[in-house]
Amino acid sequence: MEIAHKLNKINQRIYQAATKAGRDPRKVKLLAVSKTIPAAVLLEAYKAGQQDFAENRVQEWLNKVPELPADCYWHIIGRLQTNKVKYLDQRVSLIHSLDRLALLKRLEEHGARRDLVWPVLVQVNIARDDAKTGLLREEVADFLIEALNYPHIRVNGLMTIGLFEADIQETRGFFRDLRRLRDDLKKEFPKEFTLNELSMGMSQDFEIAIEEGATIVRVGREIFGER
Ligand SMILES: *Cc1c(COP(=O)(O)O)cnc(C)c1O
Repeated sequence: MEIAHKLNKINQRIYQAATKAGRDPRKVKLLAVSKTIPAAVLLEAYKAGQQDFAENRVQEWLNKVPELPADCYWHIIGRLQTNKVKYLDQRVSLIHSLDRLALLKRLEEHGARRDLVWPVLVQVNIARDDAKTGLLREEVADFLIEALNYPHIRVNGLMTIGLFEADIQETRGFFRDLRRLRDDLKKEFPKEFTLNELSMGMSQDFEIAIEEGATIVRVGREIFGER
């Protein structure tokens, strides 16, 4: 199947999942997770109307950016090494993987130097999976309080990765937990943060994530095929 057709299918599924949940489908953003996929294929997706792309390696992102039109939106997902932060610039739309204090500090330094404010999501290890990074849910409030000291960081919401081996009910439970955590934090910090974004759901579970309130879904394989 060609990319345009696959994108069309996914967008239809997003529309249906949102409508089923009584949500406005326009409030759900599809990220094309393009890690390991050649720039020429991204361009095909772009021509089919896709503008948001997500990469997990800074070097690969740097190589692809010049190959695509300037009106693409680039998202950084996956563990971000502090020594790679210096390569980030205003072409980054959103960093989804703020998961530790050292990274917060490094982003602040780099943002101050470049006079940029980084829009970020705090990654939460909602499933308490030892194999994943991210804050535990009980750590997030203190982390947000700490982030208030960093004027070049703007926390816009939360992100999580489900458990690959979880069944549908478990997966739904994790997404629901992330949403509840976000709702609690919104109440706790009504003036300090907007926290409007919930980045959750991938190829295998994005419809469940939308039903549970995802505003951003990150889909790779269903668009580009197996990596
Ligand atoms: C690779 C990746 C995705 C996309 O996963 P697919 O199964 O290809 O849809 C989403 N989020 C993160 C953080 C990823 O690393």
